[in-house]
Amino acid sequence: MGKDSETVVIVGGAIVGSFTAYFLRKQGFQGQVKVVELDPSYQRSSTALSAAAIRTQFGCDFNTRICLFAADMFRNIKSWFGPQADIGFKEHGYLILRDSADVKQMVEAQNAAGADVSILYPDDLVKRFPWISTEGVTCGTFGNRHEGWFDAWTLMREVQSAAKILGVEYLQGEVASVTTRNGNATGVSLSDGSQLQADWVVVAAGALSARVTRSLGISLPVVPRKRTVFNIQTPQSNSAFPMLFDTSGTWIRPEGEGFICGIAPDPENDPDAYDDFEPDYDLFEEKIWMNLAKRVPAFESLRMTAAWAGHYEINTFDHNGIVGPHDEIKNLMFATGFSGHGVMQAPAVGRGIAELICTGDYQSLDLKPLGYDRITKNIPVIENSVY
Ligand SMILES: Cc1cc2nc3c(=O)[nH]c(=O)nc-3n(C[C@H](O)[C@H](O)[C@H](O)COP(=O)(O)OP(=O)(O)OC[C@H]3O[C@@H](n4cnc5c(N)ncnc54)[C@H](O)[C@@H]3O)c2cc1C
Repeated sequence: MGKDSETVVIVGGAIVGSFTAYFLRKQGFQGQVKVVELDPSYQRSSTALSAAAIRTQFGCDFNTRICLFAADMFRNIKSWFGPQADIGFKEHGYLILRDSADVKQMVEAQNAAGADVSILYPDDLVKRFPWISTEGVTCGTFGNRHEGWFDAWTLMREVQSAAKILGVEYLQGEVASVTTRNGNATGVSLSDGSQLQADWVVVAAGALSARVTRSLGISLPVVPRKRTVFNIQTPQSNSAFPMLFDTSGTWIRPEGEGFICGIAPDPENDPDAYDDFEPDYDLFEEKIWMNLAKRVPAFESLRMTAAWAGHYEINTFDHNGIVGPHDEIKNLMFATGFSGHGVMQAPAVGRGIAELICTGDYQSLDLKPLGYDRITKNIPVIENSVY
């Protein structure tokens, strides 16, 4: 699989790029695998700045399947990466509160895809989560298994180490463009003027992915949008607390002794962010605090202790990942646009891209619904469950 002389260049070395490199080797790719990373500190990568949670509750059933593979990997992390591997996977459900009762069909589809999601009505909610106010809530959906949170940084480091042991080469550099000849990608040009030849180029550059292929006239609908995460302390115990999504859009989950929480800004206050990593404290003062105190009365006396901001790589076309080959340049692959789900999707996506390169098709899970061609054909595959 993959001749000795063949080379894959992966643009971006965080979670998606590294899982792709790792699975190429695991699947027996014999040639060279080169990962080009702009900033090997990964400080501004979305992976390092994420909330590192995983769910199976999606509107598109393929997203559920993609995440089930990751949940299984996280549960059995030592069998993948060795006895030292500990990503602190806490398998606790997402509790998504709803203000419409119209969820039965969606939950059935999730469970048919392999998830284990229950619908809880207000009486069940109060029995199970006595601290909750059910005002304005018609029901909640709760993942009994396969959901939770983990340490994304440690996961990324484990995958990178494993990939390096398997012979993947990590290079520091900024890919300025993808080079082509006769409709094929031939490699990449770096901003220092150097070139790398490649038989396949994989774009896994997160929120900056669109820049990589811009000079080819490809307008990838992926933009960086700022999301702020706040650490809080409260008298409310966080043991047995789920990853809670409120009807207001506020989310909160345990972290250490306290909690982390956030909310998406209103669309009119959500510009492309690029170099802006300044936490948006107004979101906390004007929205989150009030929303949390309404939902969990014990949160009235909460205290914000820290905050950070990172970038979602938002696919403005339909909020789903863009995975697979360009429709004309067949050896140019995309693995980006996950719109806030990329850590939980990275294992299945990396495996899928590796399968495409090694065998010409998906083998374990069909990721074609995420293909690039839906963009040129203008057929969005909308994911409604975006937080
Ligand atoms: C606040 C926040 C909370 C989130 N919460 C979750 C969550 O709970 N669960 C979840 O699954 N996901 C979550 N996400 C989304 C998740 O972090 C991303 O989807 C995921 O990290 C994407 O991984 P990636 O490897 O594609 O991108 P990144 O981690 O951003 O990595 C891309 C890499 O490419 C490099 N790069 C960029 N351009 C170039 C270039 N031209 N040349 C070379 N290298 C380049 C960058 O330096 C970077 O290291 C969250 C994101 C944020 C910001």
